[in-house]
Amino acid sequence: MENKPVIWQEMTWPEIKKVSDEVGIAILPIGATEQHGFHCPAGVDAFNAYEIAKRVSAQTGAIVAPLMPYGSHPYFHYGFVGTLPIRATTQIEFVRDVIKGLVNSGFRKIIIMQAHGQWWTMHTAIQETALDVDCFMAVATWWELACEKIREVCTTPFKHADEVETSVSLALYPELCHMERSKEDYSLKGYVDKKFVRPAVHSELINAFPIESITSVPQESTAMETGAPGDPRLATAEKGEAIVSTAVKVVVDLIEYLKKNYKPGEWPKVKPVLAADMY
Ligand SMILES: [Zn+2]
Repeated sequence: MENKPVIWQEMTWPEIKKVSDEVGIAILPIGATEQHGFHCPAGVDAFNAYEIAKRVSAQTGAIVAPLMPYGSHPYFHYGFVGTLPIRATTQIEFVRDVIKGLVNSGFRKIIIMQAHGQWWTMHTAIQETALDVDCFMAVATWWELACEKIREVCTTPFKHADEVETSVSLALYPELCHMERSKEDYSLKGYVDKKFVRPAVHSELINAFPIESITSVPQESTAMETGAPGDPRLATAEKGEAIVSTAVKVVVDLIEYLKKNYKPGEWPKVKPVLAADMY
């Protein structure tokens, strides 16, 4: 029998304290508000982060912190109707403040469930926060957690609002998807010859969009026809369910490992002991 997720905003503070005393692990979902083509809603990244976090919570008892629905964006996302970017510095400060709040509520093991292409801010946020706060932090994205499964079930590499991401949407909230409006879109073009474009460091491993390369090659993304590069018509709920359940299992396994090896108030010690406060 599947248990219910443990949702921070639905609980009183003594109930939250009980979870911190007995489990001590929090999941912080971070998404974005961004156009996802003609066929998927602007909340895709936020919904994906929250729904996957809830599935993990239901299986582990880890608490789901309130969702951050805004995200930082590469510059070429600016100008798309439906996209509401926040600056990278805002995102970093937000993550640091919320993690401090989670620690002050007794949670020393924190898993960030992040579902938007903003890893440069997310990783910086973790590095900056680790200077201030002694806790365990991990950043999880569903496309990295399920990279092998994505390659197994999908026929095109992951970009945005495409076969891969739309499949996840169809698995989690099909009522908000309008597949009859989806169409293939290969209109995204770079300014320089393709021979100069190299894949990002991890893109081959995770079968993902080489966003670093795209960032260094200015794109008129707002000139795209649909806002969804690739072919979302290939998406199915079955593919999405395979991806989501694989990603959930990896995080569940991590949380069970943490529960087995660390008491609720303990955490893997990774912070160095410094001779002087530097910050
Ligand atoms: Zn997305």
